[in-house]
Amino acid sequence: MFMRPSFLPRLVNGPLFDPVVYVRILNERKALLFDCGHFEGLAPRELLSLEAVCISHTHMDHFMGLDRILRAILHRDQPLTIYGPEGITGKTLSKLRSYTWNLSSGYALEITICEVLPGCMHITRTRADTGFAVTRRSTAPLQGARIYVSPRYSLDAVILEHTVPCLAYVLKEPFHLNILKNAFTGRGYLPGAWVGTLKAHIFAGRMEELITVNTHAGTQKVRVSRLKEELVTITPGQSVAFVTDISCSRENIAALKGPARGTDMLFIEAYYLHELKDHAAARGHLTARQAGMIAGMLEAGQVFPMHVSPRYHDRLDEIRAEVDAAWCEASEPGGSRG
Ligand SMILES: [Zn+2]
Ligand SMILES: [Zn+2]
Repeated sequence: MFMRPSFLPRLVNGPLFDPVVYVRILNERKALLFDCGHFEGLAPRELLSLEAVCISHTHMDHFMGLDRILRAILHRDQPLTIYGPEGITGKTLSKLRSYTWNLSSGYALEITICEVLPGCMHITRTRADTGFAVTRRSTAPLQGARIYVSPRYSLDAVILEHTVPCLAYVLKEPFHLNILKNAFTGRGYLPGAWVGTLKAHIFAGRMEELITVNTHAGTQKVRVSRLKEELVTITPGQSVAFVTDISCSRENIAALKGPARGTDMLFIEAYYLHELKDHAAARGHLTARQAGMIAGMLEAGQVFPMHVSPRYHDRLDEIRAEVDAAWCEASEPGGSRG
C-alpha cells in the first residue's frame, strides 16, 4: 500500500557543509527546522511556516542562521519556539538583544526559548515589541525525552556529549492515517478538503463529530467514526531523527536507543572517514563508519549522512560506502548490534 508521508524532510545544504534539516508537516502549513548554521536554500515562504527551531548546540555552524530566520519572521503574528541545550536561553537572548529595537513597538512576534536540561526544561518568553525583554519564565518537569506533544506530532530531545552538551531530536507521528481512496467510489464520496478535516478530527480523538462530505449526490453530514471505519487504515507513525556532533561513546549510543530506535529516517553526521577516527574522537565527532554502525544499532529505515567535512567534497562516494558497509554489518543478526 502506498503511504502518503506526513513529514517531508529536506537536507537543505546536502550532505556537505552545515547540517540543516527542514521538515514540512503536510496538511498543516507548518514546519520545523533542525539546526540553523549557514544556509541558502530556504525560501521566505518556507521560513514563515516555521513553528519551531531545534538547535543541537551553539557552535557557530549550527546556530548562526537564526538571524536569517528572525529577519524573515519578524513581522508575523504566530510565535516561534526555539529548543536547545544548556545555555540556549542566554545565547539566544544575547543574539536577539544585539540589535536595536526602538521601532519595533507594533511587532506581535513572541519567541519562547526552551532550554532542555536533565529532568526539566526552562521556558523563557520574550517579545519583539519589548525589544526582547523577558516577559515570563517558568520550569516544566520532563518525562523521559519528550519535550513537546500535539495531536499531529511529538518531539523528543536526547542530551548527548560533544565536549559540550548537544541535543539529538526525534520527531514522531503518534500513528499514521492512510486514506483508502478506492473505498470512495462505492460509497459515492468525492475527494475534497473534508479529507483533511477528517484526519484532524481523528488525530484529536473527536470521533463523534459530524463533518460535511462531498458526494456524487451533493454534500452530506457524516460522523467521523463511520468515515474512519469506511475509509481509513491505521499504521505505525512516521519518525525522523536528527543526530549531529556527538562522540561515539557507549553513553551516547545507549541514550539514543530509547527514543531513536526504529526511526524511519535517520539524519546523522559523518564528519570524517574512519581513517581520521582519532581526530573525530578529539573533537567529539562521528566518522562515517561510526554513523553507519549507529544506524544499524538503531535499526533505522533510511540513513542520510550529513555535515561531511569539506575536505571530502570530492570523496562523498567513499563516505557513503563507509556508512553503508557499517550499517549493513551492524544490521546483520550477530553483527555488532547490541
Ligand atoms: Zn559542534
Ligand atoms: Zn558542527
